Amino acid sequence: MLVTCTSAKGGVGKTTSAVHIAAILAGDNTTLLIDGDPNHSAMKWAQRGDLPFKVVDLMSAAKHTRNFEHIVFDTPARPSRDDLEALVEGCDLLIIPTTPDILSIDATLETVDLLEALNCNCYRLLLTIIPSRRTGEQTREALAEFPLFKQSIRQYAAYEKAALGGVLVNQVKDRNARVAWSDYQRLGKEILT
Ligand code: ADP
Repeated sequence: MLVTCTSAKGGVGKTTSAVHIAAILAGDNTTLLIDGDPNHSAMKWAQRGDLPFKVVDLMSAAKHTRNFEHIVFDTPARPSRDDLEALVEGCDLLIIPTTPDILSIDATLETVDLLEALNCNCYRLLLTIIPSRRTGEQTREALAEFPLFKQSIRQYAAYEKAALGGVLVNQVKDRNARVAWSDYQRLGKEILT
């Protein structure tokens, strides 16, 4: 399966989602994470510690792709219309993380307009960095007409610790590490069904 994570705006948990989705898909299969973000956040994450799947730079990805069952592609934020068209063409599932603030939602809705104009039916919005149940429900209602994952990703400081340590969120010392990981586990089940 080829899963692409892109976002209309930076700082919405795109790389964090790409890393954890790759980890879920890597459960039984070989999974490659391609880092196409100019910040190289996923590459740096992997270099700081130990992730249970391979991470490669976009520029060297072509050589690696044939050996993997699943590929997760972390793209630059704010893709142009042409980039979006190419991304849609090149994946099975396009995931667009969106935080519950109005700037992120506005930017996401512009991307959704482009996707609809491209007749794309392989995209899904993922609500991320959700600070409270109430905010999650309100955002879900506001976006109800669009394809949304049932699972949202809640806000936990454990993710920062995971990025810092170069590991997955379930491996950090934090009282919310397991519950944070459970969000991506449930998301993974949705992705695979
Ligand atoms: P992007 O790739 O969209 O720029 P990142 O994945 O780099 O976003 O995340 C931006 C910041 O938000 C980072 O500091 C990251 O640790 C933090 N973050 C990401 N997801 C969560 C979450 N679910 N809860 C709390 N902080 C998060």
